[in-house]
Amino acid sequence: MKLLNKPGSISQAAFNLLSHRLKGSAYFDEPLFRHTSYRIGGPADILFVPQDVEDLQEAISWARAENLPYFIMGNGSNLLVSDRGFRGLLIKISGSFNGIRFEQNRAIAGAGSDLGVLINQAARHGLFGLPFAVGIPGTVAGAIVMNAGSATLYMGQQIESIAVLDCRDLRQKTLHRRELGFQYRRSMLDSGDWVVLEATISMQEEQPPIAFERIRELLLRRRTAQPLKYPSAGSVFRNPHNAYAGQLIEETGCKGWCVGDAMISAVHANFIVNVGQATANHVLALMEKVQAAVEKHHGTLLQPEIKLLGDWSQSMSLWRGDAGK
Ligand SMILES: Cc1cc2nc3c(=O)[nH]c(=O)nc-3n(C[C@H](O)[C@H](O)[C@H](O)COP(=O)(O)OP(=O)(O)OC[C@H]3O[C@@H](n4cnc5c(N)ncnc54)[C@H](O)[C@@H]3O)c2cc1C
Repeated sequence: MKLLNKPGSISQAAFNLLSHRLKGSAYFDEPLFRHTSYRIGGPADILFVPQDVEDLQEAISWARAENLPYFIMGNGSNLLVSDRGFRGLLIKISGSFNGIRFEQNRAIAGAGSDLGVLINQAARHGLFGLPFAVGIPGTVAGAIVMNAGSATLYMGQQIESIAVLDCRDLRQKTLHRRELGFQYRRSMLDSGDWVVLEATISMQEEQPPIAFERIRELLLRRRTAQPLKYPSAGSVFRNPHNAYAGQLIEETGCKGWCVGDAMISAVHANFIVNVGQATANHVLALMEKVQAAVEKHHGTLLQPEIKLLGDWSQSMSLWRGDAGK
């Protein structure tokens, strides 16, 4: 039986049938501004938070049988979701995938674990190891897939191995660091063929009071350098080779530029913040303006670090970058 009532949308009846097969929480026509750090995004046909791996397998095999797009998200802190939302099945890895345990100098963390919780629990165990991640509002898996980091340190350096679900055959596998193709803000996990389930992360021993003091200092530094008062998705553009996107944008004179309620932050020029009711189209239009201005001024075409998710069919006419892939 086909579950679509019209191309690209899923009927309530079809949703009811699917949700009875699943243990986790499934939401129909769920507004995604509730699930992104930008507080922006139209509805997903279905948002599903799986309870365990079996549940995840069931949902993916359903989407594949129905020929529907599916996408895996974590905390939505690197996503710009279209105002028209996401057609298909959006799977959010959180809740049940957030167990953390420690074995000697390693943390073994569930994919949906919050980075801040992991860093704090590690400090209590006398371990420290992700200084660049202090204050990043994402999950462990989101940070691995994005190879999140600072200018010199990044997630891939700390990963020993990860447990994944291979979406092509729905089997669980273990992948080691050398297989993960970590590059600047990229990994081979970006292909969408894998769901990260758990990660083994190497850390260094540190006295808990020293670890907590370092965390406090790093949080303070981030609060000074980044506009944390407003919703955002962190740095919008990738740093080009041998340059900082924020510096190029600032030198071009874009600080303070606005489209609707989307604004180039005065604190950090590579942040576009949502100062009120910004829409995804506002953010995209501002990205286009900045991209064109920086290209004119510096001859460099900036490419997005944030990922554009969803239905952009009516908004992308001018966009010359890739979609954050
Ligand atoms: C205030 C602020 C500060 C930030 N600072 C930094 C920073 O210093 N450095 C930095 O690198 N980033 C930074 N970011 C960006 C963002 O927080 C990171 O990229 C983060 O790692 C994304 O994690 P997430 O769980 O929110 O992932 P999401 O945004 O939900 O997803 C990001 C990518 O990961 C994939 N993904 C998520 N979970 C899984 C899974 N279980 N299996 C497979 N794929 C998955 C998604 O498909 C998507 O491709 C910042 C963002 C904000 C809002």
